Amino acid sequence: MNAKVFRFAHRTRLLAPSMILELMKLMGQPGLVSLGGGLPSADGFPSEAVREASHRVLTQHPREALQYTTTEGLLALREWVAARLSQRGLAVQASQVLITSGSQQGLDLVAKMLLENGTQVAVEAPTYLGALQAFAPYEADAIEAACDDAGPLPERLAELAGARALYLLPNFQNPTGRCIPHARRVQIAAQARSMGLPLLEDDPYGDLWFDQPPAAPVAAHWPEGTIYLGSFSKVLAPGLRLGYAVSPLPVHDLLVQAKQAADMHSSTLAQYIVLDLLRTGMLDGHLDDVRIRYRIGRDAMAQALHTHMRDLATWQIPDGGMFFWMTLPPQIDSASLLPLAIKHGVSYLPGAAFFARNPMRNAVRLSFATESPARIAQGVAALAKLVRHTLTA
Ligand code: PMP
Repeated sequence: MNAKVFRFAHRTRLLAPSMILELMKLMGQPGLVSLGGGLPSADGFPSEAVREASHRVLTQHPREALQYTTTEGLLALREWVAARLSQRGLAVQASQVLITSGSQQGLDLVAKMLLENGTQVAVEAPTYLGALQAFAPYEADAIEAACDDAGPLPERLAELAGARALYLLPNFQNPTGRCIPHARRVQIAAQARSMGLPLLEDDPYGDLWFDQPPAAPVAAHWPEGTIYLGSFSKVLAPGLRLGYAVSPLPVHDLLVQAKQAADMHSSTLAQYIVLDLLRTGMLDGHLDDVRIRYRIGRDAMAQALHTHMRDLATWQIPDGGMFFWMTLPPQIDSASLLPLAIKHGVSYLPGAAFFARNPMRNAVRLSFATESPARIAQGVAALAKLVRHTLTA
């Protein structure tokens, strides 16, 4: 095929190559301990419950479940989301809920609505790589909010004045695993409100806590100025491709229009299946199982890091989610080391991928969700050996 036939739009140059996609290709390598990919544990998927729910849906509602539906999504599912968030401290009406094709689509639709060339969007440093990718084609400049271990610094938000939104990951952040504490949430919301800086809160990991649920969403402290994104990917299964965007009504109406043009609506069948599953009341018991599974992974990784890396690196132990963020000695460039690490049988995600502007080159994101405890230990040991070798080479 002659590539010259096509004249590509400028934005195609902004579709940054995804390290995650590259890694997913490498993950096929037999034997590789994948601490990089960050896939939820397939062993924890509620396959049997989904099989039974699918059967019920296709027996009881085949005509509706296979038909087009409204762009907003099934009302009963939107009501479920509103009730669940209300329990978590964010008072929401079903009329504010848009069912999306994963929260990734929420990021795209919000970016489509707010961003354009010459505008700025503020992000945490580090932030979710997939959000940087979702924002990039809309040609805004991503600028970094000054952050510490507890999230963006409220007293430094003034530097972001004029940005179209501040993108926040309050719970078990991808990539660092940290949570924004309650008091900081209140301060961020108050400062953002006083500046008129809209917030985009992305919360796919909030249910994956180990000891206690995280604080109420930031949106609870400024509902008129915050768009909140949630997802069924980490609590049920990502292959369902279902998430939700909760927004104040004028914003909601625009998001609905943008979604209609993008894909009409999210899979009716998937929505029926998830609604059926939720109505069986299985979610909380299932989440208990997921939390136990991930806690075991977290403990295995904490133990392995302590055994093999304690003189080489620093990290915080996360209280939920799927990730450790580890800082290696400054002379280590984790992106250049990655091909060698893969040769030695272990993958990770280089920290630099998660920064909009000023990358930390000596950090890595390690996932404890995908691999067994034994393989986590094996992977961390291999990584430690490689880092030690690199430092003395
Ligand atoms: N936001 C964050 C922070 C994520 O980590 C992910 C998944 N890796 C997403 C959004 C997208 O998830 P999904 O589209 O499956 O809901």
